[in-house]
Amino acid sequence: MTTHLPRRSFLGVSAATLAGTALGASAPRMPLRAGAPAVIASGNGLAAVREAMARMQAGADPVVAAVRGVQIVEDDPDDMSVGYGGLPNEDGVVQLDASVMHGPTHKAGAVACIENIKNPASVALEVMRRTDHVMLVGEGAKRFALDLGFKEENLLTERARRAWLRWRDNLNPGDDRLDDDQLVIPAEDADGQPIGLLHQQPGMHVEWINGVPYTTGTIHLGAVNASGDVGACTTTSGLSYKIPGRVGDSPIIGAGMYVDNAVGSAGATGRGEAVIQSCGSFLAVRKMEEGMTPEEACLFVLRHIADRTKRRDLLDANGRPNFNVTMYALRKDGMVGSACMLPGGSYAFATAHESGVKRAPSLFS
Ligand code: ASP
Repeated sequence: MTTHLPRRSFLGVSAATLAGTALGASAPRMPLRAGAPAVIASGNGLAAVREAMARMQAGADPVVAAVRGVQIVEDDPDDMSVGYGGLPNEDGVVQLDASVMHGPTHKAGAVACIENIKNPASVALEVMRRTDHVMLVGEGAKRFALDLGFKEENLLTERARRAWLRWRDNLNPGDDRLDDDQLVIPAEDADGQPIGLLHQQPGMHVEWINGVPYTTGTIHLGAVNASGDVGACTTTSGLSYKIPGRVGDSPIIGAGMYVDNAVGSAGATGRGEAVIQSCGSFLAVRKMEEGMTPEEACLFVLRHIADRTKRRDLLDANGRPNFNVTMYALRKDGMVGSACMLPGGSYAFATAHESGVKRAPSLFS
């Protein structure tokens, strides 16, 4: 037999419970006030932080400033981790992910697996600005962008195509495509230089999976203006040579990027699967709300990820994660910080007076 509670008493109990416990427990312990304007980005974002700061000083909303900043990197064919020139999936197709979030309205926008559109962060901004939705994917995201006047273009540069071919040809030593060490004449790129492993760029990480190098890289950018309003975005071509359709952390709100206007913002680069499974950016913001500095919050998230990494192929001989993740955080009062799982991470920052790139402290040496 089913017992039906009168609706009013059910709501009454819930409201009282919420007021007494859950809501009270999540109230900020340290209300943060506006401070100096500040911008933080991944290490490949020096030009981006400068652009974002200049835009905010000219009056742009922080999320718009963030998107215009990262556009410099999306447009750069030499950055093989983002936008135009990004490394393709296992079929040789560039699929991009991006997200944005606007602190004052707590509204987010994202696109995933979008093809042939160079600036996915700008499309994510339009999803946020013009729709009631948060995320559009694949063909729908592309059609949405084309309707708004974004141009369809080939994003696979010759350099990225040749890197993909080389990855494919070296995949299986037993197949009929000869590996590098079997070639009759060493391979050369278009400039006549020997084709080596992709050199590592700032913000780009090489992750070895079953002896095969995969490259990850992304740009995250968080910005706060003098009024304490926060905006952020993350944009990427994701894990190189991924399974078509794979979505990383970058477009997932709370994983690759998150904003809470009362607290600040956070973002992530590196192994997206680890960040998604720990809601990394959401967790960093919550930890800042509890009083941690941005750097402490980043280290907390990395420890959380490390403690929950169970697959043996993702651990080194000492039981530590063998992959990198870098977290970036910015507080409403203008304090910024970053940390990485393994040495090698860096972050770019800008204030009204200075900008630069700093090494991020690592959880493990
Ligand atoms: N986090 C991105 C992804 O997993 C890649 C990266 O940041 O390197 O798609």
